[in-house]
Amino acid sequence: MDNQTLNENLKICIIGAGIGGLTCAIACRQQGLSVKVLEQAPEILPIGAGIQIPPNASRVLESLGILPSIRHVACEMKTIKLRRYENGALLTSKPIKHQTPWFVIHRADYHKILLNRAKELGVHVLLGSKVDRIDFNTGEAYLDQAVVVKSDVIIGADGLWSTTRESMLGRSSAPVETGDLAYRATFTREQLEGLDEPRITELCNEPGVTAWLGPGKHCVLYQVQGGEQINMVLIRPDDLASGVRTEQGDIGEMKQTFEDWDGVLTKIISCIPTVLKWKLMHHGELDRWVKGCVALLGDACHPTLPYQAQGAAMAVEDGAIIGQLLGRLNQNLRDGNINRHNLQGRITSVLQLYEHCQKKRTTINVQGALNNRHFYHMSDGEEQRLRDHLLAHHTWTDEKSVYKWCDMSYSEELLDANVLENAEKTFDDWVSTQWTKTRHSL
Ligand SMILES: Cc1cc2nc3c(=O)[nH]c(=O)nc-3n(C[C@H](O)[C@H](O)[C@H](O)COP(=O)(O)OP(=O)(O)OC[C@H]3O[C@@H](n4cnc5c(N)ncnc54)[C@H](O)[C@@H]3O)c2cc1C
Repeated sequence: MDNQTLNENLKICIIGAGIGGLTCAIACRQQGLSVKVLEQAPEILPIGAGIQIPPNASRVLESLGILPSIRHVACEMKTIKLRRYENGALLTSKPIKHQTPWFVIHRADYHKILLNRAKELGVHVLLGSKVDRIDFNTGEAYLDQAVVVKSDVIIGADGLWSTTRESMLGRSSAPVETGDLAYRATFTREQLEGLDEPRITELCNEPGVTAWLGPGKHCVLYQVQGGEQINMVLIRPDDLASGVRTEQGDIGEMKQTFEDWDGVLTKIISCIPTVLKWKLMHHGELDRWVKGCVALLGDACHPTLPYQAQGAAMAVEDGAIIGQLLGRLNQNLRDGNINRHNLQGRITSVLQLYEHCQKKRTTINVQGALNNRHFYHMSDGEEQRLRDHLLAHHTWTDEKSVYKWCDMSYSEELLDANVLENAEKTFDDWVSTQWTKTRHSL
């Protein structure tokens, strides 16, 4: 590292081509950094179902110039409607009023847009490249055929079961079962409209997310692919064996699980041909996200329940912040504001700035999803009646609430924060307090 010339850009190696890894790759490349992404999968398949892009993620995607492509294939949400599980009675219609849009999209479309943009920018995406081991000091990543990729920075964007996390902590650190599982499915609009049920046709045209809340379970429905497909997620208590991540679901069992729910919902469920069961996992807050020249991002460091639609959104924030901070460091190196002496120490410090910007924020976010679990899954009774009363009278202006879903200042901090502006300030402060003090010795 110390032998690099002044004009050489920092080299970044990203482990994992998920939504977080690719966003980070785009952000780094846009800052002129040299970027390689190592992905274990031999090919990128158009898998998955729907995913929400809440305003905090769309703000970041806008700053990366990706929003027009997203808008092209996504649907913009205007409301979130909550309904009672047994009859579909409307509990509330929360208007979506944020500084940037709230989209829903098919995960395959989202991923393809990010992958194409990364490649257009000159990111090297190496498929079939499983990283076995990394060196936290030298920046070397070892692939299974003993190939070594050397870089200045390694980003562990390797998801829920991150091995980078385990190497960093020096112990096993498996995610924890939450007690819930998800069934995920998509339908064509034609299929659902074919049921010839006015309420279902209305749901298919709804410019918003609809969720049915019931004891220990909930169901979410929204449009994807410009409204041509409808996405459904059903959440219920986990009955998969411990250690099983996904399993082919049984349609009969799924129907039975929701048989006493809103008739409209059970009719929609009857259209599902096959289904996958996903065990939902999360992880306690980590002590650290950074070691040497390595940092974690996304599900590798803060996996969450999907009850706030924030897992990928946080990964997008992380990736963009890392790109911005490393870009600023790179520019300072190129401008000669600092020399490359102790470059590794500087890189660690900048990665710690990223951790400082995001760790507290993402911990609050993960806890918010847990709070929503309680809010969504209440058994019928006193608290549920109070919740429903609250929902019926909420004005969605400035109320505070113990329920994060209803707390307007919580939602503003979560969804309208300008994390890139904050990162920029954090970098400036660091430069003025750390670098200028020791400038003459740099
Ligand atoms: C039911 C459900 C619904 C959800 N809905 C939403 C939603 O609406 N909105 C939202 O924001 N989030 C949602 N999420 C969460 C979201 O899917 C994840 O938080 C997000 O995809 C994590 O992205 P990531 O890039 O961190 O990890 P991943 O997408 O898991 O990517 C990790 C990548 O690393 C690769 N990899 C792993 N190990 C190695 C290795 N050793 N070498 C090389 N490559 C490796 C993997 O193959 C993979 O491609 C949902 C999750 C679930 C389960």
